[in-house]
Amino acid sequence: DTSPVHRHMERLAAEGIDVVRVTYPDLIGTERARDVLLDQLPSACEHGLAFCRAVYHTTPQGDVVPVAGGLDAGLPDICVRPDLDTLTPLPWEPGVATCLGEVTDPATGLAAPESPRDLLRSVIDRCHEHGLRPVVGPELEYFLCEAAPDAPTGWRRYSEAQGVVYTAGLRADGDNHLLRTLRLLRDLGIGVSSGNHEFDGSQFEINLTHSDAMAAADRAFRFKAAIKELARKEGRLATFMAKPFNGVGGSGFHLHLSCVDDRGDNTFGDTSAPYGLSATARHAVAGVLAHAPALAALANPTVNSYKRFGPDTLAPWLVDWGLDNRSAMVRVPPERGAGSRLELRLGDASANPYLLIAGTVAAALLGVLAGEEPPAPLEGYGYDTTKSAVLPTTLPAALDALEADTALTEVLGKDFTASYLSYKRDEVARFHRHVTDWEFTEYAYHL
Ligand code: GLU
Ligand code: MG
Ligand code: MG
Repeated sequence: DTSPVHRHMERLAAEGIDVVRVTYPDLIGTERARDVLLDQLPSACEHGLAFCRAVYHTTPQGDVVPVAGGLDAGLPDICVRPDLDTLTPLPWEPGVATCLGEVTDPATGLAAPESPRDLLRSVIDRCHEHGLRPVVGPELEYFLCEAAPDAPTGWRRYSEAQGVVYTAGLRADGDNHLLRTLRLLRDLGIGVSSGNHEFDGSQFEINLTHSDAMAAADRAFRFKAAIKELARKEGRLATFMAKPFNGVGGSGFHLHLSCVDDRGDNTFGDTSAPYGLSATARHAVAGVLAHAPALAALANPTVNSYKRFGPDTLAPWLVDWGLDNRSAMVRVPPERGAGSRLELRLGDASANPYLLIAGTVAAALLGVLAGEEPPAPLEGYGYDTTKSAVLPTTLPAALDALEADTALTEVLGKDFTASYLSYKRDEVARFHRHVTDWEFTEYAYHL
């Protein structure tokens, strides 16, 4: 038999692989998977694999949280078909290859509206209709933790060294977590350009190479799953939470964004135009600024996300942009020509890569279509509230901004937006019902 699936099976068997892990990103970007024995791959390709339509999320109460069209419809199936072009051996798990899946709703045979990958695909298609080919380079920060039975959460930072940004090797990373990780990511085919120690002890940043937007999202999604898995292999916990600890910085998910034309040439640079940026690039900046409050709902998707924002943090706080200014929400790095791009610093590491990229690209597209010009760029200190508006300060405020932004939700789709808002508003309600340690410390002794 020479069908594509059998050709893949022969190749995998020759590489010693006997299990295929078929994965997809759920609404919040978590990797969901079934492990399929190699001889069952043809059946998985033909019929698809069934998953329950929910976000499997361990709440303090241990709940599984349905997305819209989930529990109220009796938690029906979604169907996931392996995309064999994405097969990649897992370098740290001999005998296993991983593979992304295409998600469909069996009731309609169409893409499920809450499938983040399909949402991004539709936004990219919309860009192509207007001659725009978005290029994205993701940068992600995370903390590495080790077990601490006496800590209230059970975890503490692997190192609590201070002032360790760009510290190389063992001085801040006692057992070379970063080197080991970079090599495994290379073997997984993630496309990494570099890694470094971040500002705070146990905080790392890894930068992925730039590529078309879908490949960048796929790589960022696989990157996050790989980092979490590798930490577990060592008995550790890697977290992409936006602000896991008091008194130390948060973790960003910066996106470098540009566009290319049909020949692959960068269309964001123009040395004869204002700031050396083409009209497309300037309009893209204006679009991202105009839609930033709504975009925050995707880029900063948890109740915790809003604790990362603030003055003097290197995370943004205001809706602003600047030329090579790291205190601005949108930074324009100094390179021009092929390297002309924006760095959107809004997102935090907890964002679902597909939704962050879809939202950012959609906002930039709306700016281009509207032909808007951005205000004058920020100069110097970036946290001056007399100059720019403050970003949403809570998740509920950002969700309201998303719902109110009809131009953006038109691009993202009504069904996706409804699923997302209902899931996230349920999360907010769960948070408001839950009594936190802070409340006990703040109130119990005095009141
Ligand atoms: N950790 C900062 C953030 O949350 C970014 C620091 C940096 O510029 O790399 O966005
Ligand atoms: Mg950084
Ligand atoms: Mg950056």
